[in-house]
Amino acid sequence: MKAAKFYKAKDFRMEEVSAPAVKPGHAVVNVEWIGICGSDIHEYVAGPLNAVPGTIMGHEFSGVVAEVGEGVTNVKVGDRVACINLDVCGECKYCKAGQRNLCAKMGIDGYGLLGFTADGAFAEQVLLEAENCIKIPETLSLEHAAMVEPGAVTLHAVNKSRLTEGKTAAVFGAGPIGLLLVIMAKAKKASQIIVIDVAEDRLEMAKKLGATTVINPMKENAVESIKELTDGGVDVAFEAAGVQPTFSAATKCLAKNGELMIVALYEKEVSLFPLDLTMGEAIISNSFCYSEEFPEVIDIYASNIVDLDLLITKKIMLDDLVEEGFETNLNDKTHIKILVTPKQSNL
Ligand SMILES: [Zn+2]
Ligand SMILES: [Zn+2]
Repeated sequence: MKAAKFYKAKDFRMEEVSAPAVKPGHAVVNVEWIGICGSDIHEYVAGPLNAVPGTIMGHEFSGVVAEVGEGVTNVKVGDRVACINLDVCGECKYCKAGQRNLCAKMGIDGYGLLGFTADGAFAEQVLLEAENCIKIPETLSLEHAAMVEPGAVTLHAVNKSRLTEGKTAAVFGAGPIGLLLVIMAKAKKASQIIVIDVAEDRLEMAKKLGATTVINPMKENAVESIKELTDGGVDVAFEAAGVQPTFSAATKCLAKNGELMIVALYEKEVSLFPLDLTMGEAIISNSFCYSEEFPEVIDIYASNIVDLDLLITKKIMLDDLVEEGFETNLNDKTHIKILVTPKQSNL
């Protein structure tokens, strides 16, 4: 089968590889759609960071079950599925407690994430644990199902946070993760969703997806505006940008008992003035990946809370991954989610 293998920065190669053989407890899935994620772009620009050279990348994907191994009961051949890319031990104290994203063996002994430490989905087929195949309803398209994984990342952050119905949220950074945070905050019935970004077209998109107010910090003081809108401070600020200015603003705009929830993966150290949090007893929390959120994301998507097609800015063939996918994503910031398919008939 055809697969895009990662070697190093700017070095992805389309290769002919043998199709994966099914194993007990596993399923082989015919890949339908794969989303290009910011972390794929990071590897393309500066890798190898987390991806092991020689692996097939691609971790946001949907497909149809082609084969199941011995002992598999949760899915059968022909099922349409959204796929969980966790490839963890299942035996450590974190896995046993349902926190598979925190697996003690993450990054050790070959465990980790499909698409980084094991072969992922920029290919015609992928092999994964059958339990990681989550059936989707007829009402959910396979395109939208490929966005369940990043949706789970954002729902995990929202579910872990203090955001509940009627509370206020701010989202710093309106990239794909920031925009999905808007959708999840809307699903949780936040009373206000304030989005902060310097790109006007992203702010426009945030409005379409449910932001109640958008702020461009090049034009106004974001901290002051958020405090004004929220009667003194926002309940939860989600940091989805990962740089010093957004981190600082997010620590300074919180309500008493407020929370800064970090979703971004920082590339550099940032500084913090603890007094910004102390007198309001505000906290800083972190969210990494996802654990059990797939079914809830599927429900949210299937409820048509927003038009998910707005997020899909381009659909391309797997053969065009580098030029039409990575390069386009890098050079044209108006793109949100580029979806890739190995099947010509999908386009
Ligand atoms: Zn991703
Ligand atoms: Zn584990």
